Amino acid sequence: MWLTMTHTLLRNLFGAKATRRHPQVARPPLEGSRGELVNDIEACTLCGVCAAKCPSRCIEVDKGEGLWIQDPYACVACGVCSELCPAGSLRHRGEYRPPAEVKSTLQLQGRARREKHSP
Ligand code: SF4
Ligand code: SF4
Repeated sequence: MWLTMTHTLLRNLFGAKATRRHPQVARPPLEGSRGELVNDIEACTLCGVCAAKCPSRCIEVDKGEGLWIQDPYACVACGVCSELCPAGSLRHRGEYRPPAEVKSTLQLQGRARREKHSP
């Protein structure tokens, strides 16, 4: 038993660390992970396909107000929305979302609302 303990002790003292100082040391994305979803709101037509197809129900499109709203903490980066977006405005940036102290939803003002208010 002492042999096992000595082996474990030496491995823990001199081996590679199993943890990292997060968030000072960023975690590299796992191979094949899509990462954070971003929407190029200039290209978004607010069609609502992403909201209708998202399995996590984390996207909301308010055509009346011209808003594209997403709860990034509910997104599982499945890629369904970015694959189906007819405008090609959704993409995954290949990096994890930076850590935040307070949860918030993302609200982007889309073209429909701006056109409604233009003279
Ligand atoms: S992001 Fe794409 S699918 Fe979603 S509302 Fe905009 S254009 Fe439609
Ligand atoms: S990547 Fe998946 S979970 Fe995230 S917003 Fe798109 S459809 Fe929803």
